[in-house]
Amino acid sequence: MGRKIRIDMTGLRYGRLVGIDFSHRHGGHAHWRFRCDCGNETTVDGTAVRAGKTASCGCLHREVCAARLLRHGRRARRRHDPTYRAWQEINTFCTNPASPRYRDFGGRGIRVCPGWRADFEAFLADMGERPPGRMLVRTDPHEDFAPGNCRWAPVRTRAHRARDGARRRAEPAGQMLAGE
Ligand SMILES: [Zn+2]
Repeated sequence: MGRKIRIDMTGLRYGRLVGIDFSHRHGGHAHWRFRCDCGNETTVDGTAVRAGKTASCGCLHREVCAARLLRHGRRARRRHDPTYRAWQEINTFCTNPASPRYRDFGGRGIRVCPGWRADFEAFLADMGERPPGRMLVRTDPHEDFAPGNCRWAPVRTRAHRARDGARRRAEPAGQMLAGE
């Protein structure tokens, strides 16, 4: 009794926790009951709470983990997302000299417009999701990848191209399509 002066934590807020009342003493530490902002009640070591080691009933930790998992999932999905792949390809074709397509794009001075270059969300907002069976095409093959010059056009297979024959062969090489 009264060996140590107990710090009254009633009504004090630490993170999401607000002290309700003293619960018990364990391992030399006073444990307090707290009400968490999420509605839960929790009994924890008052020293840990004052040191900032415990700031919620555990809901904070769960939320941080869930958010991290969600971000990871979104990144993993993106790699398989056809719209994202098209955006990635045009950036590679225009900026990476090691890319086999670079000579038809970056090598000819074709660029991805500054608004799209580092911003997939901006590309997505301008172009919308890539419809199935379509690829990104520039209307004017001498101009950059930019909102006014791009559309999702039906994929042209080798058979299509052969059927169209000589008329197509006359097209400049820069017309090659991203997303094949
Ligand atoms: Zn909580």
